[in-house]
Amino acid sequence: MTNGTLNVETLTAIDVHVHVEQDAHGHFSLDQELMDASAKYFKAGEDRAPKLEVIAERYRSLNMAAVVFTVDATTATGHAAISSEEIAQEAQAFADVLIPFGSVDPHDGKGALDKARHLVQDCGVRGFKFHPSLQAFRPNASEYYSLYEVLEDLAVPVIFHTGQTGIGANLPGGRGIKLALSDPLLLDEVAADFPGLSMVLAHAGMPWYENALAMATHKSNVFIDLSGWSPKYLPAPLVRAVGSYMSHKVLFGSDFPVLTPERWLRDFEGLEIPDEARTRILKDNARGVLGL
Ligand SMILES: [Zn+2]
Repeated sequence: MTNGTLNVETLTAIDVHVHVEQDAHGHFSLDQELMDASAKYFKAGEDRAPKLEVIAERYRSLNMAAVVFTVDATTATGHAAISSEEIAQEAQAFADVLIPFGSVDPHDGKGALDKARHLVQDCGVRGFKFHPSLQAFRPNASEYYSLYEVLEDLAVPVIFHTGQTGIGANLPGGRGIKLALSDPLLLDEVAADFPGLSMVLAHAGMPWYENALAMATHKSNVFIDLSGWSPKYLPAPLVRAVGSYMSHKVLFGSDFPVLTPERWLRDFEGLEIPDEARTRILKDNARGVLGL
């Protein structure tokens, strides 16, 4: 068993979208109602919340690296977040396979800026994850611009959840979670105003993938990940774009634990796209975005 450094050359793929849903102390990322609702929505057949070492061992056995993160939605949900600092610390023991991203609560004001700096400069965090619907913030609002400034300065990529979410699914009012906050087009302004900030639109903005494609085509700092949907359910125009003119802007992500990387890869094999595009999507594009 090795726990040295990441050897990108020998990895078969980099999964840029993996959630840590339970910390070492048995605390969960979401309250029970939201956790159960999303497990049902995704028909998660296995453990909905494996701990970090379980995630690491799985990816190690697949010879793949995983970008791991939680989402700090403390203000929006009233449920205390899993510590991104702890995730980063624990990930050091699995540095050959885990790439830790951080999360800050956008409602924390200056606290979020300080925390973002601390996570990158002192804890080895390599990027950030935001979920505008779950964190209940309108990502193009000017009050978050100082946060984007800090992230651009830190020169780390940012993954934004975009599109449909399983969190709150089938609950009255979706438990108050607003899908419109995750319209990818809201982020077009952010991408225009922060050209030095690499942004990944998670889930290709599904079902608003046309907006996501337009942005990734137009702006060199905008990328797409294909997580959260089995590739076989992706619409044909998106698959055509992914296999051709967009193949340098698309990243492999599973959304584990709600979708396993094994299932994602199996269904990805079934898509009719050229081999050069596959290699880019599975590893090369992520390598570029993550600066590996
Ligand atoms: Zn996600």
